[in-house]
Formats: sequence, C-alpha cells, structure tokens
Amino acid sequence: MRRVFKHIGRLVTLGEFGEGPARGPIPQLVTVADGFLVAEDGRIRRAGSMRDYEPGWEEGAAEVRSLPGLLVTPGLIDPHTHTVFAGWRADEFARRLQGVSYQEIMASGGGILRTVAATRAASEEELFELGMNRLDQMLRRGVTTVEIKSGYGLDLDTELRQLRVNRRLDRSHPVDVVSTYMGAHLVPPEYRASPEAYVDFVVGEVLPAVRAGGLAEFCDVFCDAGAFDLDQARRILRRAAELGMGAKLHADELEGSGGAELAAELGAISGDHLLRVSEAGVEALAAGVTVAVLLPGTSFFLRVAPAPARRLIDRAIPVALATDFNPGSCPLIDLRMAMTLGCVSLNLTPAEALVAVTLNAAHAVGQGAAIGSLREGKYADFVAWSCPDYTHLPYFLGSDLVEAVYKRGQAVFRRPQPCSSLRT
Ligand SMILES: [Zn+2]
Repeated sequence: MRRVFKHIGRLVTLGEFGEGPARGPIPQLVTVADGFLVAEDGRIRRAGSMRDYEPGWEEGAAEVRSLPGLLVTPGLIDPHTHTVFAGWRADEFARRLQGVSYQEIMASGGGILRTVAATRAASEEELFELGMNRLDQMLRRGVTTVEIKSGYGLDLDTELRQLRVNRRLDRSHPVDVVSTYMGAHLVPPEYRASPEAYVDFVVGEVLPAVRAGGLAEFCDVFCDAGAFDLDQARRILRRAAELGMGAKLHADELEGSGGAELAAELGAISGDHLLRVSEAGVEALAAGVTVAVLLPGTSFFLRVAPAPARRLIDRAIPVALATDFNPGSCPLIDLRMAMTLGCVSLNLTPAEALVAVTLNAAHAVGQGAAIGSLREGKYADFVAWSCPDYTHLPYFLGSDLVEAVYKRGQAVFRRPQPCSSLRT
C-alpha cells in the first residue's frame, strides 16, 4: 500500500548521515524545500525534492496528501524513560526546593523506594492504563518510539508485571516500546543487609524469567554510589548478555565511579547520564561503540551541573538526548523540551539536538537500521510540524507545534480543531 506526501514545506531526512550514528559537531542539517516522501507498505520508498517527483506514484495510492508550509522530520525517539510506574512525588519536589537534596530524600525513605511501594501495590491493569495515557501524551508531542525501563518492583512479580505492561503497550499503542529490565535500580529494603544476595537473585532468578518470557531487549543497571558498584553491574550485565539482552548503564550520574569505562568495556548500547564522567571515561567511550544518552531535564530539575556534552561530541562520541521521564528526578514527558534544554544547558546546536532525538536515539535503542532517519527502506515514522524549519523545534519553548504524527506512513495523530472554531 502506497501513501504519497508531496509539496512538503521543508523536509529533513537526516539521510546525509548514512548507516551509523552521527558523530562530531553538526553546525546544520541538509534540508529540502518543497519535498516529497513516498511510503510503501509502511517503509520509505523515496524521499527528496519535488524536482525529482514522479506523478506515477499517485496511481493506485491509498493516500495522496500535500503538506505545504509544514516541516517534516523523522519521528522523535525517547531512548531513556521510566514510564510505567504508580504514584507521584510532587511533595519531594517541594522539599527539594527548600534545599533538601535528592540523596537526603532517598535516605529518609523517599525517592525511588516510595515509587517502588506504589508500583508494587498497583495491578497490571492500572499500570497499563497509566502507560497508555502517558504514551498518548508522548505521541501528541511527536514521539514515535520510546524505551521504557522496569525497576520499580525490585522483586520478581512486579518487575515481570512492569515488563509485561511494556509488551502490552507496544502491541496496543501506535508508539513503539523498547523494553528494558532494570531490576538493578536500587537494592530493595528486604535485601538492605546483603546487597550481594540481591545481585544473586537478579542473576539467578529474575534475568532467566525475563528471558523466558521474552520480556526485554535490554538490561540496565544503576551503577553509582548508593546503588550498584562496578563488579555488581558487570556481573548482572554479563549474565544478561548470555541471555541475549543488550547492556545499558546509568553511569556516572552522582559520582564519577567508572560507569562510562564499564559501558565501553561491555560494548553497551548506551551509557546514560554521564554528569560526572571522568577523562578516562571519555577516552573509553571515544574508543568504543556506546552511544552517550544525556538527560538535560534531570540536571535542570535537580539543579546540578549538566553533562559535558561538548567534550563528548568533540571526541566523536555519538550523543542522544532523552527525557528520563520518571516521578522523582525528572517528570518531563516532552522530548522536544529536552531538545531545548540540550541546546540551552548542554550547548548543543539545534541540528545536534534533532539528531540526538532521532538518528542517535535510534542507535541508543538498537534500532538504527529501522528508524531514526527517513532513508529508503526504513519505517515511515515521521512528524509534520507547523513551523518553517528545524531550528524552531528547540526554539519555540513549550508551544504546540505538532500538526500530525505518522507511523508506518499512516496518520496516528492529527492536531485537534482550533479552539476558535468551537465558538458558538
Ligand atoms: Zn533513568
């Protein structure tokens, strides 16, 4: 089935970057004024300038649509979220504003463990409904693929429930969900006296059950002070690799504890946060294959110094951006806002910010061959924005720019009627 989109005001395919992730500084992107895009059976058949358009494509097409005045980009990909959870923690936000640190809140029984308690108490149906609503919100903001981690159960039953919800969301919602097991988010209270026994439990019981259910593509570990050390993280991620799951790491967020080096050593698909990455960590990443996933919403919301993005980019380490959507350190659901924060607090260019939430984000979730740019053969996942150029995406702060979102060539969201049309 063919769908034809023509007279696109401005088209950004990111085709100039080829197969791999984009590395190094990107001052600007190639754009096509008056472009077209042809989708065949959900994949890009051709995309380019109307000068090369062939009217024959319209014959027998299921849809022929003109998109004048609109910007078309690849669909946004959020490569790091904790979307499936119950309960909010706005009261902790209020305490933090009065000077209490995130670590102090964790030590007093708040933080992640509070969300663990609420999530353990929630049914699969409740978590599914919460997830569907959150995916709706993401889709309306231009997101077509999202990675979701477990890690608010820290036991067998709840972790598997979270991951089953990920799979159901993927099947039930137009947004594609990449599922990551993150039982090593924190040592749960019942293992407080013997963290090593919890690692044994993760390695010996939970990971095989995740594998048996086919519930996750990736395994992630919070490798930092107060969470899991390098040896524990290595043990968990090696076992996950034996079971066919790729590695991700929450690395060097609170302290420069060697997480980046471990991500490089394991050939992890991504090393995330990296606020306190050491020079040795940067060297290791530069020599490896790992994508650096930066979360500027989290450093903004926690009021801490952001990740050294330019140092990573200057060393040709591919950089992606994510929201880190979670109820504590960053309840940010709008990935385009992460682009703005990426520009303002990490000093990315608008071009680098768009690549970071599309092509490089696709590589950070192992989907670089299928999504992230509008190259021939990739899925026709794209967004039509009501703005003239990609520089408007990080610039137009907090506004509503999405005109329509297309998944596999089909519209899955269109902007509702303008309020002015509802006047009686
Ligand atoms: Zn996270």
